[in-house]
Amino acid sequence: MTAPLFLGSEIYRGSSYGDWHPLRVPRVSTAMDLSRALGWLPDQQYVNSPRAKPKALHVWHEPDYVAALQRAEATQEISEEDCKRFQLGTVSNPIYPEVYRRPATAAGASLLSGELLRDGGVIYHPGGGTHHGMPGYANGFCYLNDPVLAILSLKRNGARRVAYIDIDAHHADGVEHGFADDPDTLLISVHEEGRWPRTGALTDRGVGQVFNLPVPRGLNDTEMAMVRDRLIVPLVSDFAPDAIVLQCGADAVEEDPLSKLTLSNNAHWAVVSALKALSAPRFLVLGGGGYNPWSVGRLWTGVWGVLNGHHVPDVLPVEAQEVLLALRWDGARRGKNRPEHWVTTLRDAPREGSVRTALRDRVDWLLSDQTTQALRVG
Ligand SMILES: [Zn+2]
Repeated sequence: MTAPLFLGSEIYRGSSYGDWHPLRVPRVSTAMDLSRALGWLPDQQYVNSPRAKPKALHVWHEPDYVAALQRAEATQEISEEDCKRFQLGTVSNPIYPEVYRRPATAAGASLLSGELLRDGGVIYHPGGGTHHGMPGYANGFCYLNDPVLAILSLKRNGARRVAYIDIDAHHADGVEHGFADDPDTLLISVHEEGRWPRTGALTDRGVGQVFNLPVPRGLNDTEMAMVRDRLIVPLVSDFAPDAIVLQCGADAVEEDPLSKLTLSNNAHWAVVSALKALSAPRFLVLGGGGYNPWSVGRLWTGVWGVLNGHHVPDVLPVEAQEVLLALRWDGARRGKNRPEHWVTTLRDAPREGSVRTALRDRVDWLLSDQTTQALRVG
């Protein structure tokens, strides 16, 4: 198998949703810079993401909405009517300078992934993972839904059965909207209970292939390991997918301001590692949420390390520390009192704990015979 590819773009560097928006922080550019500083990103593994043409987006997105998004970028304004209809120019989904180009670039990389993986392989696309996007409107910081476009592209390019796993702190509502009725797309979403968008109930099962696991506040590494080993790995393995897509949002870690989950980045890396070990013909890892510039940059760089089998050094070399030292988190208290290890290390200290009964019961219910019946490969 050929070496994993990193689909990046310079469009993410310096792009901000606005001074007060959680997505004012750099993320993908940090993963690119840190990976290069560690010697992990040679030119031959880097692919510049193409921008999707509007027509290519119409496979899932409504043409009127795509046109409105382009109009919003060109004019940097939005009419009251378009704001209402398309949820553009709101607090969550503001109009910013690259409001069409940036999501269209993430979408372009997701569409390209399906083509590049036609004959198998591993792709990392940390600018992807915008799992809340809807066909005809923006939703939850997501203007387009690149995971849906990736799955459709994988299917157009020879993957019949696709397993989509989402470990972002928020429910993958847009992706479920896209594939809830498709028995050939396994959907597993692990997300914080009671948090926006408040969808993804345990009992929402699609046509039997949807597995939603709402998890309680304070989710620890030990609990995530249980979810990984008892739920995620067996379900994906039994499904025997032609492609695995992992949305690896970084907002379920302790330092993230948008969730109350308390994982360390070890939990995410272990999920990446376990899914990689299943050796599905195609493996695509996307980004997602993640709003603390240090924790998201370190976590996503580590994901690339895991995909390549690199050893994570205990102390980062000076060039890598300089990347982290240069980050700013304006308007956030924690940005001013940043702990030393956010700059000197990639790996967090593990955050282990006890496995709560309520969580175990939910996993048991999802694994009960009646629940998994529809999933059995005929
Ligand atoms: Zn999220």
